[in-house]
Amino acid sequence: MSNQYVAQTLETVKRRYPGETEFHQAVTEVLESLIPVIEKNKEFEEAGILERIVEPERQIIFRIPWLDDKGRVQVNRGMRIQYNSALGPYKGGIRFHPSVNTSIIKFLGFEQIFKNSLTGLMMGGGKGGADFDPKGKSDNEVMRFCQSFMTELYRHIDADTDVPAGDIGVGGREIGFMFGQYKRIKNIFHGVLTGKGLLYGGSLARTEATGYGCVYFCNEMLKDRKSGFENKKVVISGSGNVAIYAAQKAQSLGAKVIAMSDSSGYVHDADGIKLDVVKRLKEVERKRISEYAAEVKSAQYTEGCSGIWTIPCDVALPCATQNELDGNAAQALVKNGCIAVAEGANMPSTPDAVKVFLDAKISFGPGKAANAGGVATSGLEMSQNSQRLAWTFDEVDAKLHQIMINIHTAAKNAAADYNTPGNLVNGANIAGFIKVARAMIAQGV
Ligand code: NDP
Repeated sequence: MSNQYVAQTLETVKRRYPGETEFHQAVTEVLESLIPVIEKNKEFEEAGILERIVEPERQIIFRIPWLDDKGRVQVNRGMRIQYNSALGPYKGGIRFHPSVNTSIIKFLGFEQIFKNSLTGLMMGGGKGGADFDPKGKSDNEVMRFCQSFMTELYRHIDADTDVPAGDIGVGGREIGFMFGQYKRIKNIFHGVLTGKGLLYGGSLARTEATGYGCVYFCNEMLKDRKSGFENKKVVISGSGNVAIYAAQKAQSLGAKVIAMSDSSGYVHDADGIKLDVVKRLKEVERKRISEYAAEVKSAQYTEGCSGIWTIPCDVALPCATQNELDGNAAQALVKNGCIAVAEGANMPSTPDAVKVFLDAKISFGPGKAANAGGVATSGLEMSQNSQRLAWTFDEVDAKLHQIMINIHTAAKNAAADYNTPGNLVNGANIAGFIKVARAMIAQGV
């Protein structure tokens, strides 16, 4: 199916932002699934919604100078893309990773618009980051870097303007250093960042939220197949924030998690991953996943990441990074009997892989729906900060669970309404888009 308005918009994006392949990939996926919506609702084209929604409202790029432990000057590049504020203040994580560039941050910011819309909370879309690698840096170096990053970013964010959170390379430690610097400069204590420590305005269950939410979403997909997590073999890529709590929730629902990874390689433990060991290695000691196999005799370590998808499993949860699961990996999963894939990471499956899953009619939950639990709980943290209240873990977890059920229902219904029943890629894009588009029309050009 093709549509001239969609084709022209894609062409403009590619001409205006040459070489930004991840950004092109994300925009192409969303726009192609919106074709039936654009054809049915002529007002979206008349209001120029597509050409407006693909262009960020604001892009800020800045220098981050800092001193390492030897007293040498280091310089990184930071950025914040304030993508769309139709539904609320810009909201989206900050990523610290050497691969960060404008293509990656724009793709993430663009996805974030629709993800945040799906949560049903009042949040616009944005994303930020820096090409800084926290790996191997001392706590003091990370602190000096975060302070320098915030020394520029503070001018552009506020609790009612733009509320960043964590992402790859940005956890509780980094959020704490950035919050401290924001407060020092602005002399304001409010919810300008989410993912904060519990002692100073963080929300219970935020740390667990993305991983738990991904499993709640996947559970809804399994229920539609008259199944559940009980006794399922689950493979999870990554061993960071999302992966660890996806593993925890899957195990608590009776699944056996048999493999996890990091950017160096993966461990396969047929007896079931001992999550306490992974948590200590990754959250406390900041070591490599290979150390797991050195400690746990039932596990084998394999260097390199993509082989993890050749391990036979019932459910796969890619929770590491973009484009980590390609067409070959998808074919291996399907051939080995996998029935459900839910993306904890953002855009971990390549377009070829998504096609394999959809053609094979296995359940597939795209990231913007399946991993929306993190930002949803960030939204709940913002609510608690505004009220100066802290809800209990169970209260937040129950709200998160209900939000994930609602997102699944919204995506499923939108897919059916637009004649692609069961295609949650289309469903999530359509359900997320329609709300934003209508709000943009209401707010004028
Ligand atoms: P973390 O930094 O906590 O963990 C990332 C994990 O992915 C690590 O195990 C890391 O290994 C691995 N990884 C990173 N880069 C690569 C790579 N190029 N190849 C293979 N593995 C890699 O990040 P999060 O868990 O927070 O984020 C993971 C994914 O989930 C990202 O796509 C993020 O955008 C997405 N996400 C996160 C949310 C959150 O609340 N944190 C919310 C929604 C989505 P290593 O340690 O070796 O680098």
